Amino acid sequence: MDVVIRNANLADGQQGVDVAIENGRIAAVGPRLPLQAAQEIDAAGDLLSTPFVDAHFHMDATLSYGLPRVNASGTLLEGIALWGELKPHLTQQALIDRALQYCDWAVARGLLAIRTHVDVCDDRLLAVEALLEVKRLVAPYLDLQLVAFPQDGVLRAPNALINLKRAITMGVDVVGGIPHFERTMAEGAESVRILCEYAADQGLMVDMHCDESDDPMSRHIETLAYQSNRLGLHGRVTGSHLTSMHSMDNYYVSKLLPLIREAGVAAIANPLINITLQGRHDTYPKRRGMTRVPEMLAAGIPVAFGHDCVMDPWYSLGSGDMLEVAHMGLHVAQMTGQAAMRDCFRAVTSTPAAILGLQDYGVAPGCHADLVLLDAADPVEAIRLRAARRMVMRRGKIIAESPRAQARLSLPGRPEQVNFRLNR
Ligand SMILES: [Zn+2]
Repeated sequence: MDVVIRNANLADGQQGVDVAIENGRIAAVGPRLPLQAAQEIDAAGDLLSTPFVDAHFHMDATLSYGLPRVNASGTLLEGIALWGELKPHLTQQALIDRALQYCDWAVARGLLAIRTHVDVCDDRLLAVEALLEVKRLVAPYLDLQLVAFPQDGVLRAPNALINLKRAITMGVDVVGGIPHFERTMAEGAESVRILCEYAADQGLMVDMHCDESDDPMSRHIETLAYQSNRLGLHGRVTGSHLTSMHSMDNYYVSKLLPLIREAGVAAIANPLINITLQGRHDTYPKRRGMTRVPEMLAAGIPVAFGHDCVMDPWYSLGSGDMLEVAHMGLHVAQMTGQAAMRDCFRAVTSTPAAILGLQDYGVAPGCHADLVLLDAADPVEAIRLRAARRMVMRRGKIIAESPRAQARLSLPGRPEQVNFRLNR
């Protein structure tokens, strides 16, 4: 055996578990495994989790904050305009350098799979070429999945549909869209039809920016569910953001939720971004804007939390820490019950892994030995502490480590050195 991790807690509640690893895969999971290994790691009762997965990100824009200027109004629309100003000045090397830097941050925080949208509204497809190169470079340590994203609207922007199809031919994985940014509701619905038919024809997954709006009448999620159902795309379609659902009429939502469930459509909320971008036209009371997460979970709809942005035209903060994303999602959705907090942990691990279609993801024999050891006893504590990632493992090899958070104090009347751990 290559590695055995002793005395770990798992996210499903199992305690005192050993995990044995051979040839990059998990060979055995159980209490006190009677075996020898070249390397023994003492988890000391800490949480051993599958890696974090970010189902919604924009890697072509990341780390560009302040270029060429900052977003003064803080709105989604100024962010889109700002990105439009920046696009002509992008170079392939700068895109690659920023993306690789972000991937380093991600790995350090145990984030080993990312679905990133890539803007296809630039005829040069510079960002597509750059992120395909990044995907190839990071493949040994991070799974990168690309979505062909027509940021300026597949019908509204010239050449967008042609460019989207070119991007797919070049190797981009998923069909994207942005129906609420088309010129009319009718054109938005038409864009959903065109893109879903194209995805069905090509055997691809769909992930659309959908109803990222405070307009309660923005109902493209209804069309997305309809087209998914009509074309038999169950389990392959995702609606990202869905923020208009926050403002929709409750009776309408009571009809909509079962339709989304029936169509096998998953949802991705982006709590850090939705809580800052939505409700900007409100005075008070001011809407939160995040979609109806607990209600969708109760209806049997898979919901993931995405990071969306890190230091770009839309958001000046962020660090690739999916526990920060889960922490914000928990607060905005008021998911403070024990079971709900565990749902928030799943929303940044197993749920997005299923949305991306990651293979062999789990803590079970046969799965990839991709693991994160957290300085926390369980998922709730991990979110509460945004716990240090003691160890990040990919295919059985340690690729990142962080020290525990602890204070070393020397005070009169107390032992010369006190190690105070945050959690226990
Ligand atoms: Zn987005």
